[in-house]
Amino acid sequence: MQPFALLRPDNASLASDDWLDGDVFIAGGTDLLQLMKANVVAPRRVIDLERLDLRHISVDADGLELGALCSMAEVAEHPGVRAGFPAISQALLASASPQVRNMGTVGGNLLQRTRCGYFRDVGFACNKRLPGSGCPALDGENRELAIFGGSTHCIATHPSDFPVALLALDAEVELAARGGTTRRLSLADFYRLPGDTPQIETAIQPGEFITKVRVPASPMARNSYYLKVRDRTSFAFALVSAAVGLDVSNGVVRDARVALGGVGPMPWRLPHVEEALRGQPLEPATLQQGAARAGDGATGAGRNDFKIDLTRRTVLRALHTVADRES
Ligand code: SF4
Repeated sequence: MQPFALLRPDNASLASDDWLDGDVFIAGGTDLLQLMKANVVAPRRVIDLERLDLRHISVDADGLELGALCSMAEVAEHPGVRAGFPAISQALLASASPQVRNMGTVGGNLLQRTRCGYFRDVGFACNKRLPGSGCPALDGENRELAIFGGSTHCIATHPSDFPVALLALDAEVELAARGGTTRRLSLADFYRLPGDTPQIETAIQPGEFITKVRVPASPMARNSYYLKVRDRTSFAFALVSAAVGLDVSNGVVRDARVALGGVGPMPWRLPHVEEALRGQPLEPATLQQGAARAGDGATGAGRNDFKIDLTRRTVLRALHTVADRES
């Protein structure tokens, strides 16, 4: 690991105003420290957010608000989250290990870097780590990589579970910026597709950092579920995951939310699947027809082709789990 200076500001305005080009923010550090030890990132200065007052969890009739420094564990176990936003609790509990969930923050989890092996090994070329150097994954080991949203420059996946549930439930993030200002972004606008600049992963501007996450209350949020399919049953990243939510009234699907994880450079919403479910009777044929479209638009890179069918089966099983609660 390269030597670095550690700054520990005690308010958000200072944290943002102190930021210089090349600095990085640190919260729980569960991902960043791995990257620094592997020399994937080597900042001269690290700005520790630990002293900021960003640890609240509030649930009311309007929805859920999380301070960005809440641990993944405390959010997952919060009674209001479990009752009103079960997919969020389930996604967090499906993440990492208990130790990592105790240390990792919800803000940091949104910014976890890809688990593409080439990115995390400085012995390989990688357009995301070193723009213009190439992407060995395109013709190499891509079993766990993207079937949606990739480009000829990068097919990495976003590895986190929590933002998949957030995207399905129409969440937004609040960012602190220079001069004590803040701005809000929907989660859909927060992430960036790789295109020809895979090193740019989010809409975060220099000096900005996440302060809050907000999720509106809704029938879909209350009746939501997160299913993660992976190579082993714990401490593994998703091959495919699905966050679904249904609003059902008198046996009819009034509204639906469906998003995938493990398949794209960002959590991947499936509006066409939601549309196929909306207004239809809640019966197995409806769920089958919706799930059958989950792989629409997907493109495999060879070793990850199996994910296309796996998305359909994962969505179908998740929908059945939610639907069974209604019957
Ligand atoms: Fe790097 Fe992206 Fe290619 Fe992986 S897929 S090697 S992260 S450019």
